[in-house]
Amino acid sequence: MFIQKPRGMHDILPDEAPLWWRLERTARELCARYGFEEVRTPVLEYTELFRRGVGEATDIVEKEMYTFEDRGGRSVTLRPEGTAGAVRAYVEHKIYSLPQPVKWFYIGPMFRYERPQAGRQRQFHQFGVEVFGSDDPACDAEVIELGIDFLAAAGLEGLELELNSVGCPDCRPEYRRRLQEYFRPFAGQLCEDCRERLERNPLRLLDCKNASCRRIADGAPVITEALCDACRRHDEGVRRHLEAAGIAYRLNPRLVRGLDYYTRTAFEVVEGAIGAQGTVLGGGRYNGLVRELGGPERPGIGFAAGLERLILALKAKQAGEPAKTAVDLFGVAVGEEADAALTRHLRRLRRAGCRALRGFDGKSLKAQLKAADRSGARWALILGEEELRRGVAILRDLRTGNQKEVPLGELENWWTEERDYDGSPQS
Ligand SMILES: [Zn+2]
Ligand SMILES: [Zn+2]
Repeated sequence: MFIQKPRGMHDILPDEAPLWWRLERTARELCARYGFEEVRTPVLEYTELFRRGVGEATDIVEKEMYTFEDRGGRSVTLRPEGTAGAVRAYVEHKIYSLPQPVKWFYIGPMFRYERPQAGRQRQFHQFGVEVFGSDDPACDAEVIELGIDFLAAAGLEGLELELNSVGCPDCRPEYRRRLQEYFRPFAGQLCEDCRERLERNPLRLLDCKNASCRRIADGAPVITEALCDACRRHDEGVRRHLEAAGIAYRLNPRLVRGLDYYTRTAFEVVEGAIGAQGTVLGGGRYNGLVRELGGPERPGIGFAAGLERLILALKAKQAGEPAKTAVDLFGVAVGEEADAALTRHLRRLRRAGCRALRGFDGKSLKAQLKAADRSGARWALILGEEELRRGVAILRDLRTGNQKEVPLGELENWWTEERDYDGSPQS
């Protein structure tokens, strides 16, 4: 019986893989420009890390994690996001004792047990960055700038940056209290989730998607009025630097992010007013997280962007572009001796950087030439007993049909000259 892939998982087939390379290359090049270095953490962590790092009262931890016992009886979880693992690595390797700030990025798969729908998979990919050890508003602005540059380089248009401050442990408790005071009389009209949030995580009442909850949330007090002086100054600093960088933003006091560890700056990049469904990048400051996960007091800020949606945008953009030639040369041999010689000479050409294929299974000359055409190769290299005896190969230009003989000893030279003359890019 045929076994399908698990629900919500998907295959990236070779026709799509080059789009992934391109997106990942864009991320890496941009990160290098801003001085971010790559970190690769395991996809599997102890469950406790996410309980503490993401927060007990979040949808991710309550409903969406792939959690199971390993054979040693320890509870482990496939990472639902990248920040907790990065912070764990930062603490575990005592990176906090090095000169700060430390600027990291990651690219990789994340796992959430959500209901699969268009553009949402249970295994999905994120590009994210984290900066540890700086509380400077200029740092917030730089992280946002990198995110915006990345999305623009990926070809996304009509983006809007939404910005808010979610306060700090000094001013948030008071705001929390005000929210509870406001929402309590409406408790009967709230959805089941929100009734629970009212006591455990009242900030989340502001970003519920339920229509009735939304209507009530519209009249709720906004955090902007409740910020302490330090948070207000920080927020003004971030805006000053964004304006200096020429980055437009829209203040959204309802932007709270789903995670408990965020402090002060919170931001999202959305696709032209589609609402929460259109969020392509989100992040914020998390000054309490390093301490929460057993490290010293160190501020942090980061963002994460889902790559599946960007791949869709790239695909749409590329639909009209002609496919690029991925093959330079296709080897064709007639006879057993020539067949073995072909193996030897193709190896030389590949070592010289030539993208060279060959046919298998002893097909006829005609069938092999047909395969050479189908491969999209520029050249066919033809080798028979006669050519072998004379120490030459026939090189046929598959675009023009012209052909010439090249001494076997000169194949690398021939290739190097052709490549330079043709100016075809080498990967
Ligand atoms: Zn504050
Ligand atoms: Zn609700």
